[in-house]
Amino acid sequence: MKECLLGLNLEKLKSVISDLGEKSFRAGQIYKALHLGLDFSEMTELSKTLREKLSEQYTAQPVTIIKNLKSVDGTQKFLFKLCDGNVIEGVLMKYKYGYTICVSTQVGCRMGCAFCASGLHGLVRNLTSAEILGEVIAVNRYLGGGLGDKRQIINIVLMGSGEPLDNYDNTVEFLRLVSETGGINISQRNISLSTSGIVPKMYKLADEDVSINLTVSLHSPFDEEREQIMPVAKTYKIDEILGACANYFKKTGRRYIFEYVLIRGNNDSIRHANALISKLKGRPCHVNLIRLNEVKENELKSATDKEAYRFLGLLEKGGLSATLRRRMGEDIDGACGQLRQRYIEENSTGEI
Ligand code: SAH
Ligand code: SF4
Repeated sequence: MKECLLGLNLEKLKSVISDLGEKSFRAGQIYKALHLGLDFSEMTELSKTLREKLSEQYTAQPVTIIKNLKSVDGTQKFLFKLCDGNVIEGVLMKYKYGYTICVSTQVGCRMGCAFCASGLHGLVRNLTSAEILGEVIAVNRYLGGGLGDKRQIINIVLMGSGEPLDNYDNTVEFLRLVSETGGINISQRNISLSTSGIVPKMYKLADEDVSINLTVSLHSPFDEEREQIMPVAKTYKIDEILGACANYFKKTGRRYIFEYVLIRGNNDSIRHANALISKLKGRPCHVNLIRLNEVKENELKSATDKEAYRFLGLLEKGGLSATLRRRMGEDIDGACGQLRQRYIEENSTGEI
């Protein structure tokens, strides 16, 4: 497969362009055009011969939007096609201050959480850094956004399909590429990475020169019960995760967030709230409660609104900082991996 130029930083792009015998200012032009989401054929500042030379050896954009669904609440879901025919998904949410995009980091996921549609078929492959960046670039272009101050997307969450820390190197490279000056340049402070709790990689991330927000999917304060819904919990215990979070705070000074999906009759009782309070109280963290997005492939049900607010009230009374995330895009298969799953069902050509 041809190398994708969007995956190169400006320095590397310069050496590619000089190897082609072109002047170095061309690299700057091409870099900007790539971050604007343009294909070689649209880079009209370049000579036709150079455009042809580039497209013989390289690809420009690694993803194409093949479907876009709009929710009544303004959330949009995108289905992207990769160069090898695989499909991934991303979600766009509009807040008062601008757009947030939720991107995928893998095709599928091998963690196999019971409530999640992304892991239904296991892991197909890791996304390259160019592909993760491509999701952001394609949607920014779709929104009519430019670079730097003219970008439309201002926040990124790595909460689509896949476990970002299971695709560590490409994810970290993506974090650097997306925040490089001269490109789309999204501040690392506005990027959140969510992990199911891969402890050694959480330590490694704390030592990188990236300053992003760390989010951990907890979903239970009890190891044995967590194992029932998250197989990865057999390997990494809650106390080890808390140790890795404390280290992240020590090294980066950044508070961390716990995601807690409320599953009816599973993890939403007073006993769970009390245990959560005693585990997390006094830590520099925030708890983000989410009502389960029910997926038809399993029997798990969401806590009702009333139950969810009761759980929130218990945590707050216990001294935790907590919020209940508003429901988004339920009418468009909002949950992680659901849209791709639907696409696979409708287009089972054996491609995926
Ligand atoms: N693999 C990473 C990031 C992607 S999942 C992780 O697990 O953290 C992003 C978030 O969506 C996680 O908190 C995950 O638990 C949650 N999630 C997965 N399936 C869900 C569903 N059906 N309803 C609500 N949240 C879900
Ligand atoms: Fe993977 Fe996250 Fe889904 Fe678990 S919740 S299967 S780790 S994407």
